Amino acid sequence: MAALRARTVLLTGSNRGLGLELVRQLLGGPRPPAWIFATCRDPEGPRAQVSARLPLPPAPAEANVADPTAITNAVKIVEAKLSGTGLNLLINNAGIYAPVTLDTVDSEEMIRAYKTNAVGPLLMAQAFLPLLKKAARESTDKGLSCSKAAIVNISTVMGSIERTAESFFKPVISYRCSKAALNMLTKCQALTYGETGILCVALHPGWVKTDMVSVCGYCPADLTVDTSVRGMLSILPILSEKHSGSLLNWEGKVIPW
Ligand code: NDP
Repeated sequence: MAALRARTVLLTGSNRGLGLELVRQLLGGPRPPAWIFATCRDPEGPRAQVSARLPLPPAPAEANVADPTAITNAVKIVEAKLSGTGLNLLINNAGIYAPVTLDTVDSEEMIRAYKTNAVGPLLMAQAFLPLLKKAARESTDKGLSCSKAAIVNISTVMGSIERTAESFFKPVISYRCSKAALNMLTKCQALTYGETGILCVALHPGWVKTDMVSVCGYCPADLTVDTSVRGMLSILPILSEKHSGSLLNWEGKVIPW
């Protein structure tokens, strides 16, 4: 099986859930990246302590994806550590979820979800674009790949308009709308950044047992974080230009928009 050869990786929301497991498995993989920037919104907070228990410490940095200043500061930290080299892989994993319906959702919740789930990944990609482009230029690989330069947006089948009816017993309006926006963003990023050698893809991790799902209460989470992350990391090395601009599940199957 092909291995991911990304030298430098940055993840958001890496203090718990899928983000933390992504860091853990990347560090424990056959070719661990030289740099993993495991960002979270509160590196000094109690939840961030979990990262300190990883087998090898990744480079922690603050990145509240809903705060443009925090993102700008994160770029400066990463640039300084990389000393002139590029960033191969940006994983926009941070996300929020609220069990609201069409009756109960309000403008504040819509904006809150949109800011974190759609605007955050947009700003992260804008801010780290120069480093991603640098990685693409530095690579001798032909075509697009996650080892060369890529943006992976962790999305959900709940953002798929075509597949809405099958899970609409969980309306989660703000979550669905913000993730549908993230899916559109992924397509636009693929069409724009592909020319500069950057692969852009949205991934659905499956229904995974994390804090997010426990908030929902009635979601049928059937995957462990270990299985979901193992699946996602096994498909990253095989992604190419033919997948860029798509929404795929954790097993690599295409999900319609
Ligand atoms: P968790 O609720 O367990 O973790 C969410 C993570 O996002 C936390 O690290 C949280 O940090 C972080 N986060 C939230 N807001 C921000 C912010 N403004 N800035 C930076 N970090 C932030 O969820 P999961 O691990 O399950 O979810 C990870 C991703 O996977 C999300 O994008 C989610 O939508 C997606 N997903 C998950 C599914 C599942 O079944 N679990 C299904 C489909 C998609 P903090 O500790 O500070 O709150």
